[in-house]
Amino acid sequence: MSRSATVLAKNGKLLWPHLCVCCGTSHDLLDSGEPLTRTTAMGNKLTWHVPYCLSCKAHRHAARRGIVLVGGFVVPAFLFLTIVYAIQWQSWPTFFAGVSACIGGTWLLTKLNKIKANALMHSTCSHPFAPIRYLSSSGGKHTFEFVNETYGAAFEAMNKDS
Ligand SMILES: [Zn+2]
Ligand SMILES: [Zn+2]
Repeated sequence: MSRSATVLAKNGKLLWPHLCVCCGTSHDLLDSGEPLTRTTAMGNKLTWHVPYCLSCKAHRHAARRGIVLVGGFVVPAFLFLTIVYAIQWQSWPTFFAGVSACIGGTWLLTKLNKIKANALMHSTCSHPFAPIRYLSSSGGKHTFEFVNETYGAAFEAMNKDS
């Protein structure tokens, strides 16, 4: 479940409840939060500093590191080697075995990474790495989606036009 909130930035600023956006704790919050960026249709880059606690920062980075490592390095490198080898030796079995190993390996690494990130998460955590998503912005209005619904409601209330 998640909750979206559309709020108006006053003078380009948004208020963030002083709670971790993932688990909702008010303890051990990072001093300047974690940056959440989005490039608008006009090409402007917007950055918000979202509050996270230390332990949520840790599981978030562990989860993202795994995704970057598997998706950006291990799989492409292995596929490349498989293709080069198969062309070199004109071997289709090698190619298919390589591709299968790649799919299996990706599955395994993703699973292990998930276990590792999950081990760092608390029961109150809302997402391994993306408890908040920046959906859209138009004019001075910004729409976010929160997995932690309580946080989303507090955020919306805090930024209500009054
Ligand atoms: Zn937290
Ligand atoms: Zn968390």
